[in-house]
Amino acid sequence: MSPAPVLRVALATPLRQLFDYLAPAVPPPRGVRVRVPFGRRRLVGVVMGNAETTDVPTDKLRPVLETLDDRPLLEPGLLDLLQWAAGYYHHPIGEVLAAALPKALRLGASLTAHEQRWRITPAGSAAHAQGEPRRAPRQREVLATLLGQERSAAELRAQLGETWRNAARPLETRGWIASAQAACASSAPAVQPFAPADGPTLNPEQRAAAERITASLGQFSAFVLQGITGSGKTEVYLQVTAQALAQGRSALILVPEIGLTPQLVARFRERFGVPMAVLHSGLTDPERLLAWREAYSGRACIVLGTRSAVFAPVANLGLIIADEEHDASYKQHDGGFRYSARDLAVMRARGAAVPVVLGSATPAFETLFNVATDRYTRLTLTRRAAEAAPPRLALIDLRAHAHTGGLSTPAVQAIERHLAAGGQTLVFLNRRGYAPTLACTACGWVAPCRDCDARMTVHLSARALRCHHCGAQAPLPERCPQCGFTVKPVGQGTERLEDTLSQRFPGVPCVRLDRDVIRRRGDLEAAVRRIASGEGRILVGTQMVTKGHDFPNVTLVVVLNADQGLFSSDFRAPERLAQTIVQVAGRAGRGTRPGEVLIQTEFPDHPLLTGLLSEGYEGFARTALEERRQAAWPPFTRLAAVRDSAPSAEAALQFLTEARALAEGAHGVRLLGPVPAAMARRAGRHHAQLLIESRERASLHRFLAAWLPRLESLPSARRVRWALDVDPMELF
Ligand code: ADP
Ligand code: ZN
Ligand code: ZN
Repeated sequence: MSPAPVLRVALATPLRQLFDYLAPAVPPPRGVRVRVPFGRRRLVGVVMGNAETTDVPTDKLRPVLETLDDRPLLEPGLLDLLQWAAGYYHHPIGEVLAAALPKALRLGASLTAHEQRWRITPAGSAAHAQGEPRRAPRQREVLATLLGQERSAAELRAQLGETWRNAARPLETRGWIASAQAACASSAPAVQPFAPADGPTLNPEQRAAAERITASLGQFSAFVLQGITGSGKTEVYLQVTAQALAQGRSALILVPEIGLTPQLVARFRERFGVPMAVLHSGLTDPERLLAWREAYSGRACIVLGTRSAVFAPVANLGLIIADEEHDASYKQHDGGFRYSARDLAVMRARGAAVPVVLGSATPAFETLFNVATDRYTRLTLTRRAAEAAPPRLALIDLRAHAHTGGLSTPAVQAIERHLAAGGQTLVFLNRRGYAPTLACTACGWVAPCRDCDARMTVHLSARALRCHHCGAQAPLPERCPQCGFTVKPVGQGTERLEDTLSQRFPGVPCVRLDRDVIRRRGDLEAAVRRIASGEGRILVGTQMVTKGHDFPNVTLVVVLNADQGLFSSDFRAPERLAQTIVQVAGRAGRGTRPGEVLIQTEFPDHPLLTGLLSEGYEGFARTALEERRQAAWPPFTRLAAVRDSAPSAEAALQFLTEARALAEGAHGVRLLGPVPAAMARRAGRHHAQLLIESRERASLHRFLAAWLPRLESLPSARRVRWALDVDPMELF
């Protein structure tokens, strides 16, 4: 008798290895979860394959305790992607798997568990036929949804929104609907009758784009759909998704931020009316498990979500879309496993042989580089659906014009003009709070954060000082703690700007959009409604206004201060500045009136600003990419960063210095640093970084693979918190 086969199991431990266990009588296939003993604990792991040979002596091999799935939880393609990601980001596979799975599944919950299913009773059908309950349209909606078919709680939520239970309760009380626990389907889904609602007729550019993508269904191809907000990108996504669904396949749609999900979910739901699985960080664990089940079982043929949704199980994947692909939120930038969901989306599409669409008004420079080198195909939308002339951009020289409260005279005059003509104005300032600094008028003291190399921001209405880096909070002092003289806020934040504008334009209602006023679900939608209804005439906002939302009556955009991005040590700062300006500018002139964009700056001759004005984003990108080529930055080189933090600056630098010493003589890579971070002390810890650069992706990865295990065994590694970031998005 041959010995029982040995399984290779991935476990969520920081060790860079798989673990060998004796298979049970029926050896589970790759992708199935098993429960195994690990030291004195029991862990849930994922079978990665069979071991041909094992280094573990036979009498030390421990058996698998339990097989948790009757079919693979992760299909082979997805498992391949995760294994590839573990290699590329040099992160232990067990932790990569843990990042991909909902907590409940990591802990061993059953994927085919029982779930609540609802049906309409004969009494309910009769009531519905008579138009009951007359005064409760939501309840009628629930009845209509259940007519002729049972639905799971998740489906009802997906179709009717979070509040469906409020409407279901009275119906259940009257005996018109009933629920039962049923086993969750784990086999192929029932065929969905598929009848999407009509969309608008595509304009020629949209049609060309949709046709190109549709023609690629069934094979890998990467498309960049470039068009400003309002140019009809979403409409192209909808049409291409319709084609994929019509072929019986599913679509995976990624957005960079939770705030962008409701709008997009609403548009897909409206158009298709099929069950959708929505995955984002705002879900509770049970909700996430449900959404995962919906996707896994294939009942949801549209899966929409933020970053980690790139790992969602999508039965029968046919298409991947990543909207706002340039957004840095696609990169996981904390924790151990720092991946780019956008880049993994492309890898996943390649593995699954399906097209991927990267949409943006301002594609990342890396993406433009991939277009220039023919790896990606660009499809351009140049027209807005409701066409106005593109907005006119102009600079205001802050040195040449008087300004009060951050607003220059030409900007104030322009606001007056646009208000008089019935337009709305958007004033953009990427800094929330009342003022970035509280200073003493006598001795020069400024309120510092105790734990960071940063100043506290004044929040006047909250009567507080807050650190935007560590979250520390203190009461607003009345007097200088150093000399007892009066203190005053210095500089501009959105809260102060709102005040200034209300004083300058009395009676003109102002709406502010930033994280201090938009805190709960629904706040953003409410604010956007006030703006859309014309109730708010002036909008003040941070980065938040650049994302997704349409403000069709905004005819003037004022960028209060463009200068923060001009002189950063981060080689990506110019790219971000250009993206922000173009995205903010894109809010102007969405209706029939042409828009005007005014950018206040103290450096009107700065080549980045003049370049952007004269050549637009494309020309700007060309110039900036050439600069990167000369400076040997990505995408012309490959970059990784080791970052660490420690209670003392010495400890933070020591680890990286030793790490660098280990790398002496390495071939094909260049090490830069270590240097303390630009803001070295944050939340009481000192931060530093070491960059590794290479012309060849292969040399970088060969180097990292050999170097990292040695870093891990450095004694100084135990005195710091450190992490590797491959393709870092932010350098400090
Ligand atoms: P984007 O995603 O690029 O911001 P959308 O697809 O949301 O653009 O389109 C902006 C607006 O124009 C939406 O209200 C959309 O319904 C409408 N729209 C898009 N394409 C067309 C079209 N071909 N005909 C008419 N309206 C359109
Ligand atoms: Zn003082
Ligand atoms: Zn702080």
